[in-house]
Amino acid sequence: MKCVICKHGETIKGTTTITLERGSSTLVFKDVPAQICDNCGEKYVDHQTTQTLLKKAGL
Ligand SMILES: [Zn+2]
Repeated sequence: MKCVICKHGETIKGTTTITLERGSSTLVFKDVPAQICDNCGEKYVDHQTTQTLLKKAGL
């Protein structure tokens, strides 16, 4: 898909690291599937994936 941030790049499949905070703890999820802009590097994680992570984190 086209990047909505820079409006020039195309997103490509990749993985990213997501950090979630729960109280005084910080949870880090590595290798989260995401679409990444090949121009500006903006990362898009889909809603489903976000929900799964929040559930895993107990949020
Ligand atoms: Zn972009």
